[in-house]
Amino acid sequence: MNIDDFRRWSRRAADWGVAYRETLRDRPVRAQTRPGDIARQIGDTPPENPEAMEAIFADFEKIIVPGMTHWQHPRFFAYFPANAAPVSVVAEYLATAMAAQCMLWQTSPAATELETRMMDWLRQALGLPEDFTGVIHDTASSATFAAVLTMREKALKWRGNSGGLSAAPKLRIYASAQNHSSVDKAIRMAGIGEDNIVRIADEGALRSMRPAALEAAISADLASGFLPCGIIACAGATGMGAFDSVDGVVAVARKFGLHVHVDAAWAGSAMICTEFRHLWAGAELADSIVFNPHKWLGAQFDCSVYFVRDPHALVKTLAIKPQYLQNTSRDPVHDGEINYSEWSAPLGRRFRALKLWFLLRAYGLEALRTMIRNHVSWAEGLARKLAATKGFEVVTEPVLSLFTFRFVGDGCGNIDALNRDLITRINDSGRIYLTQTIIDGNFVIRFQVGGFETSEADVDAAYAAICEMVG
Ligand code: PLP
Repeated sequence: MNIDDFRRWSRRAADWGVAYRETLRDRPVRAQTRPGDIARQIGDTPPENPEAMEAIFADFEKIIVPGMTHWQHPRFFAYFPANAAPVSVVAEYLATAMAAQCMLWQTSPAATELETRMMDWLRQALGLPEDFTGVIHDTASSATFAAVLTMREKALKWRGNSGGLSAAPKLRIYASAQNHSSVDKAIRMAGIGEDNIVRIADEGALRSMRPAALEAAISADLASGFLPCGIIACAGATGMGAFDSVDGVVAVARKFGLHVHVDAAWAGSAMICTEFRHLWAGAELADSIVFNPHKWLGAQFDCSVYFVRDPHALVKTLAIKPQYLQNTSRDPVHDGEINYSEWSAPLGRRFRALKLWFLLRAYGLEALRTMIRNHVSWAEGLARKLAATKGFEVVTEPVLSLFTFRFVGDGCGNIDALNRDLITRINDSGRIYLTQTIIDGNFVIRFQVGGFETSEADVDAAYAAICEMVG
């Protein structure tokens, strides 16, 4: 591709992106393909000779696009959102054009310094104290992995990294039964072992970890010779939005000198609104917090923010400095420079701060707060409507913009099967996209509002689709 072709195809790609956004409402939300449909249309072997860009682009439109589930669709109500406000897409074009590798300050000074600033803007936006700083990750899974490694190393007095775990005492990590599977995966990857996750019984409408049960579990483990190393609290869990009482968890952690990590991957964005902060009261006392601006704030996926109170513990856990990564500059202004690869597992790092900067400047916090408040109020409105509709029950009330419901009809027959069938028909219709969870052993349907371009009319359209699909 020469420079003129690059110009032409870059423009074509940008125009395509705009037309795509304009026509999203006309597309089925979830891909309407069967496994293997796409692979069958792609050559078995790599080409030996160049192909024309016209043909490549035409195949993209013909083969790939129909096989995509449209996460930016305004009627995407499944999982949690992975947003991409148009302005952050523009920032991503620029970051991609530069294709910067931001592992060290000297490999991308502006990216590093912008990242430091964005972390502080977000800290202020969420109302966290000044002693929190942090780093941008790809996903919450990576941030939670870093948190678990830090907990492990703190508990082992940094001997795990050097000596391994074979001679170490058995470590324990405590979490609520509502925690996301990324917590289990992090504990597995950190060599602690899934058998050493102690799940604490929950209580109340928000299904919070019971602090007395947490304290009893830690005491029992200590008496049995285990080494407790940390607690992972959830603030807005995936199933029904469970919130642990973070201040209760922190109070127990303090008694035993344990690290507390808060997983607010989804709900963290809502904390830009002061009226929702009571839900995670105590987060300001935690050791680390993760939230994903790509989930609900509008930053282009991927963008996950990891706040830490003690960056030295994180760097001591993750930093590794072979000769070629050492700074050879003698310039004194470089003293104190931050090398963010020492704050995360991967060495190579994309330039993710740019899309946050564009997003926060183009909208301002107040517009983002309005979006989140609208989502919460539309979800509450839909939950009320469904609760008042014959045959439906709301299983868990809205927590922010997430609630669960099911169709119970006249109460006879296999209600789980009825709802499995209902969600399949809804998603096959392509009109809206929903996902499910299990609550108290029952199959229930989740509904969350979080799309950057979702309107109240889209939520009304969801109500119509759900009601029509039962009939
Ligand atoms: N934590 C919670 C509460 C989540 O809902 C999710 C994903 O939806 C995750 C963690 C994992 O997020 P990621 O895909 O960024 O790793």
